[in-house]
Amino acid sequence: MPPEFLNDTKPARDKTKALQSADESDFRDHLATADKEGRRRWLYPRKVHGRFYRWRTRLSWVLLAVMLAGPFITIHGNPLLLVNVVERKFVVLGQVFWPQDMILFAIAILVLLTSLVVFTAAFGRIWCGWACPQTVIMEMVFRKIEYWIEGDAHQQRVLNQAPWTGSKMARKILKHALFLVVSFLVGHILLTYIIGWREVFHIVTDPPSKHWVGLGFMVAFTLLFYGIFARFREQACTFICPYGRFQSVLLDENSIVVAYDHKRGEKRGHLRRDQGPDERQAAGLGDCVACNQCVAVCPTGIDIRNGTQMECVHCTACIDACNEVMAKTGRPGGLIRYASLNGIERGERLQFTPRLAGYVVLLLILSLVLGLMVFLRSDVQATLLRAPGALFQQMPDGHYSNLYTLRLINKTSQPMQVDLRLEKPAGSLTVVGRGGLTVPPQMLSEYSVLIELNPDAMKSGVTPLVLGVYSSGKEIETLETSFIGPRH
Ligand code: SF4
Ligand code: SF4
Repeated sequence: MPPEFLNDTKPARDKTKALQSADESDFRDHLATADKEGRRRWLYPRKVHGRFYRWRTRLSWVLLAVMLAGPFITIHGNPLLLVNVVERKFVVLGQVFWPQDMILFAIAILVLLTSLVVFTAAFGRIWCGWACPQTVIMEMVFRKIEYWIEGDAHQQRVLNQAPWTGSKMARKILKHALFLVVSFLVGHILLTYIIGWREVFHIVTDPPSKHWVGLGFMVAFTLLFYGIFARFREQACTFICPYGRFQSVLLDENSIVVAYDHKRGEKRGHLRRDQGPDERQAAGLGDCVACNQCVAVCPTGIDIRNGTQMECVHCTACIDACNEVMAKTGRPGGLIRYASLNGIERGERLQFTPRLAGYVVLLLILSLVLGLMVFLRSDVQATLLRAPGALFQQMPDGHYSNLYTLRLINKTSQPMQVDLRLEKPAGSLTVVGRGGLTVPPQMLSEYSVLIELNPDAMKSGVTPLVLGVYSSGKEIETLETSFIGPRH
């Protein structure tokens, strides 16, 4: 009976251990990127060629172009994405969200997380391999620079072990200089998503003394990205990113993952020239020729033949490498492919399981709530608070007055004329010191508002008030507050 390579449970692990050789069976007991003493084992993934790599490269160029152009693309005058934690202002697809919209933002994050859960349950870590900025920038920019300057995996290994000569120094300096330039660019792009490209432009062009904090962040981001892409690399995916750890609870035997077809591949054995497929079959050998090319290309250094592992970022490099080997050995491709455990064991296609259906229903409900909230969100948000320390005043004509602070947020990119009316009870309302309520675009403005009531309209102590906020003659919000007066 074949080992349950794709099953991550303990019984399966024990079974797998019993069936594998001693060398292969302890793969879960140590990290692929550390030696026995716990020191970092530097990985030299071999260059990949193949169908999946070509598609990933094309997609990466599109994603990189979107990432670079993102801060400059505007919708209604707002950027595509802005996460300005400094001013607590967030823009998604041109829609401005303020701290007052946090509930909306929280639901949007829930929708995002649920989508991730649905996609992971159905298709594994497809995000990591195809669209995660860490993978895209690492594999499509930094790795390519490294291949270009230092050559493929073998040449890199030889160069690193070679004594320091002029040529080695020149190559290392060039590589790290380019790494720093790209890190500088990535750091600036990240900053444009936080404070906007105009602000970044000012930091770059103004004298340094005017933007010490901004410059500090630029240097910090540059060094951070240089550290991640030049040194930390796959460790960011295997140690830091929590997503990989989630996969063990999200995946089941129906999830489509990058998987080795152990039924077809085992028992593995080296290919002998005099051995055709029939002879291999007669000798009890499968299609895996134990060439280790799937391991040689893996950017996280794992052996996918040991089954689904937390370190696998689903980059498909092993699929391409193995397909190349299969083509050379005259066997059909797909020994490593996108497949589920049930697909490999029983030839089943992707199943719409009750668990997956539950996730999809939850995602639909959350998306619906989010859509409705965005649709019903008003362009102006108003809050009316009693002015701190103020109680009530009696006017010379016998009326009583209360002072309030009105906060208006204009979420649009146009100035907005707003009208505030006292609906209940009858009384007068004055905006102190201003002709009217004109709120500049995407700004929060504060006004002092004086409300006067006739004693006949007042209750003893506290009188409830209802106010209407109007824009272009239409009521956009109703405010409720209280009016304090004397007790009688
Ligand atoms: S590349 Fe394919 S044939 Fe070679 S070791 Fe990996 S699974 Fe086996
Ligand atoms: S096992 Fe294959 S898909 Fe997973 S990270 Fe390694 S090369 Fe990529």
